[in-house]
Amino acid sequence: MKNSNSIQIGVVGVGHLGNFHVKQLSKIPEVEISGIFDINIDTAKKISQEYSIPSYSDLESLFEFSDAVSIVTPTNSHYEVANKALDFNCHIFIEKPITDNLDHAKLLLKKSKQRKKIIQVGHIERFNPAFIALEKIDLMPHFIEMHRLAPFNPRGNDVPVILDLMIHDLDIILSVVQSDIKDIKAKGVKVVTNTVDIANARIEFENKCVVNLTASRISQKEMRKMRLFQNDHYITVDFHKCILEEYKVHSKKENIPNNNIIEIGKDNKKYILYKKPKIEKLDALRSELNHFINSIQNNNNPKTDGTSAVYALEVALEIEKLIINNEK
Ligand code: NAD
Repeated sequence: MKNSNSIQIGVVGVGHLGNFHVKQLSKIPEVEISGIFDINIDTAKKISQEYSIPSYSDLESLFEFSDAVSIVTPTNSHYEVANKALDFNCHIFIEKPITDNLDHAKLLLKKSKQRKKIIQVGHIERFNPAFIALEKIDLMPHFIEMHRLAPFNPRGNDVPVILDLMIHDLDIILSVVQSDIKDIKAKGVKVVTNTVDIANARIEFENKCVVNLTASRISQKEMRKMRLFQNDHYITVDFHKCILEEYKVHSKKENIPNNNIIEIGKDNKKYILYKKPKIEKLDALRSELNHFINSIQNNNNPKTDGTSAVYALEVALEIEKLIINNEK
């Protein structure tokens, strides 16, 4: 676009995840990587050589040659980089969370609207094939249990676990439960770092749905699970293993196919139909970057847009505030 028919995309921050952004973007036919920028010269040089792409010594030069940018720097720099990218009229993809500061996030949203530029935020679980399978089911949950547990990793510790891990689940539930929040209770503990490492929040919605979220970055095992309970229906999504399982209660056997039936009760028998749809494992990062490109090409609002990211951040910061106030 700026200089050719392809969309020119720059990548800012080519550390652990930025490297994957470059890898996936380089496979999208409509994209040409305009270049990269990283404050770590050695990292920038390595990626520049590996992919034969220019490495710029300042953000401005990169943005000048870019229609869009992928911002994959630590969270505390998201605002500064994204704000500058918007000054250069670039569409922006920002890794999650959008920023660590609500006012900054709102300023980015306002500026992107004024400049008619897209903001997509890296709430990648919405592109997880198991979650996409869930979206096809009629959902009216009364209770949702979310677990996101990860072993300790020094990366991402510049923010509390609520902004690093729980934010994924907050984005998910705010897209699933279409109701305003009535009340939040939260508790968390700093175990290893100077910010909260393990957190639990209980969110009650106006439609009476209750969500219980637990996020830990000091777990021995990895778990990313969502369990939804609604009338006569239980659904579980394993984001890590990319599995969806469904148990639906029927009162009559003739309504359901013969396979996978569990009978319960004696006189008033009930029949539980178990389903485990075949889910094709796709690379969620590739899907979300493709979605970003399609949104730019068709001038569509991305599904993980700036507005939904600001809402998830607002709830995350409220949870953090409740935890800090609870400590006093
Ligand atoms: P990282 O530390 O491995 O990489 C960050 C890179 O950014 C480093 O190379 C660093 O030198 C560079 N950098 C730092 N400040 C910069 C600046 N101002 N300008 C240019 N470059 C700068 O971190 P990471 O694990 O790749 O995380 C980066 C971002 O991705 C964070 O926002 C994190 O929350 C997010 N992330 C998202 C997911 C997900 O599931 N979507 C997973 C991991 C990380």
